[in-house]
Amino acid sequence: MVIVTKPGTSDEQILKIRKEMESQGFIIHESRGENFCVLGVVGDTASFDVRNLLIHECIDKVLRVQEPYKRANRLFHPEDTVVDVQGVKIGGNKVQVIAGPCSVESEAQICEVAEDVKKSGATLLRGGAFKPRTSPYSFQGLREEGLDLLKIAREKTGLPIVTEIMSPYMIERFVEDVDVIQVGARNMQNFELLKELGKTKKPILLKRGLSATIEEWLMSAEYIMSGGNDNVILCERGIRTFEQYTRNTLDLSAIPAVKKLSHLPVIVDPSHAAGLWWMVEPLAKAAVAVGADGLIIEVHNDPEHARCDGAQSLKPDRFDNLMNSLRIIAGAVGRTI
Ligand code: PEP
Ligand code: MN
Repeated sequence: MVIVTKPGTSDEQILKIRKEMESQGFIIHESRGENFCVLGVVGDTASFDVRNLLIHECIDKVLRVQEPYKRANRLFHPEDTVVDVQGVKIGGNKVQVIAGPCSVESEAQICEVAEDVKKSGATLLRGGAFKPRTSPYSFQGLREEGLDLLKIAREKTGLPIVTEIMSPYMIERFVEDVDVIQVGARNMQNFELLKELGKTKKPILLKRGLSATIEEWLMSAEYIMSGGNDNVILCERGIRTFEQYTRNTLDLSAIPAVKKLSHLPVIVDPSHAAGLWWMVEPLAKAAVAVGADGLIIEVHNDPEHARCDGAQSLKPDRFDNLMNSLRIIAGAVGRTI
């Protein structure tokens, strides 16, 4: 529930309303604009009689909020959130591009790809060390060794590293070694993992679940934020539909929808959406055009022999061309890249 006060309401009157609500067990989140104050009421308001509040003359309106997420909601936080990753700002005017292989395979591979994507303008390096594979017989990632190799690539290029966590028992190591902790689509509703990540201050890249609604996705963000970690970056990576031609169906409409509903930055992963390298460029362009704050793109120096997701990986020269065309799209929507 939300209480909106009339312009010119005094601090004293606002405090009085806060106290009244708090005495009934509600938690209040206050957000002030230039002329008005919005009080977000957290708690079970189902049996609360709204008319009791309208007795206060200073209250303009009381709205029942349908969305069950509060911290991720733009209503209580009208300004865009900008997540700072070692000085790389995600959610600001510059569209940030995270690039790198699906999985870390060797020191030479990750370092070569890191150098290449950096030259082309990527500002963060991706690479999976712990891989969530459908089959237990597929390559599972280099695990801890993969993290060590990512650190070497970071050391050489200065690019902050983004990598996926699969289990709460690895959190300490990830907090120590990684710049952005990725929660993959398959773990979007691993609530115990989300709760533990909420206790850290690390930027979290939260991918949309395979069949998750926008509301479920934002509720997962809410799990992390309710623990005290507001550094959440959302990532649309395609959802499961009846269509089989592409790996997933990129839900481009989710970008403007999430931007309207939430203040959190939202980026797009065209690689896992399409599953096909030649579709990555058009989808990446579309994502920037609809307002994505960034992209995460798979790039491999030898996709034919990649241990994971070679078919959707761009070669470094194609990635370079893509970055050049994205600059034009970004410029057309008033952003830089
Ligand atoms: C990945 O980014 O390597 C990955 C496994 O993505 P997703 O969780 O979106 O499938
Ligand atoms: Mn992949």
